[in-house]
Amino acid sequence: AKHAGRNKVFYYEKAMDADFLQKMSIEQDLHRAIEWNELKLVFQPQFHLHTGEMTGMEALLRWHHPKFGIVPPLQFIKTAEENGLIVPIGEWVVEEVCRIIQRWEAANMPIYPVSINVSTRQLQNDFVSFLERMLSKYDIPSSMINIELTESFLADSTAFAVLNQFQDLCVDIAIDDFGTGFSSLSYLERFPVQFIKIDQSFIQRMLDSKKQTDIVHSIIVMAHALEAKTIAEGVETSEQAALLKQLGCDWAQGYHFSQPVNEEELRSLLKR
Ligand code: C2E
Ligand code: CA
Ligand code: CA
Ligand code: CA
Repeated sequence: AKHAGRNKVFYYEKAMDADFLQKMSIEQDLHRAIEWNELKLVFQPQFHLHTGEMTGMEALLRWHHPKFGIVPPLQFIKTAEENGLIVPIGEWVVEEVCRIIQRWEAANMPIYPVSINVSTRQLQNDFVSFLERMLSKYDIPSSMINIELTESFLADSTAFAVLNQFQDLCVDIAIDDFGTGFSSLSYLERFPVQFIKIDQSFIQRMLDSKKQTDIVHSIIVMAHALEAKTIAEGVETSEQAALLKQLGCDWAQGYHFSQPVNEEELRSLLKR
């Protein structure tokens, strides 16, 4: 950039500035996102591949930013993990899920287990005690909550203790994005997990070759050997759904079945 014309350098720096400013502003604005009610949850239903019945749903975070519109979690979760805001944000998610389940119960709607994404950083702050308090505050059975953790967490020194706490509370665990992290069979054998979520990258490539199909099949067979159910993520086509069913996968979620929907949309979906 040194030898480029004066203007070129100027515009280049200006573009950097805009990116930098947005990042700075995201970081600052995140501090008041909860207080100003800017966080919302959407829900993506999960279905039993063999019966077609709805089995549960995953809660996904959305930030309605007054200036930038809806900011997807990938644009702020990492920052929130770095500056620690993920702890209050994660607690807000747990309490909001409990409030919503309570509302569904009060409205006599069918209730399904809700899966909550929890990052390793959140678990360092006595997350399980907080969850336990919220379950009793809103009078929600622990069977209505599942927790999604990533494979990398299993390598954390606290993993065993934390997973035991969840087990004592009778909250089921799903390993998220399975196949993308350090999947050590010895960890999985040691830790009781109820669900393995096959990462969407495998589902997308599954129909490309026999090799890709076999990989997904192996994950399903291995999960079942570990007495865990399998959930395929990011299922976008009926061909993928049919193949997964044939391979013995248990549950699925993805645009083929439903996009993540807000509370109102879910209400009308559940009434049908
Ligand atoms: P994830 O847990 O792997 O969630 C699945 C992502 O795939 C979601 O993106 C979802 O909207 C998207 N998705 C669902 N179906 C399809 C499909 O058929 N095709 C494709 N291409 N994508 C699909 P989203 O909502 O942007 O979330 C991104 C990530 O942010 C999540 O990945 C999760 O790791 C994280 N996240 C979301 N909510 C929370 C939260 O409350 N707490 C924490 N700690 N992390 C969260
Ligand atoms: Ca997830
Ligand atoms: Ca459960
Ligand atoms: Ca995932």
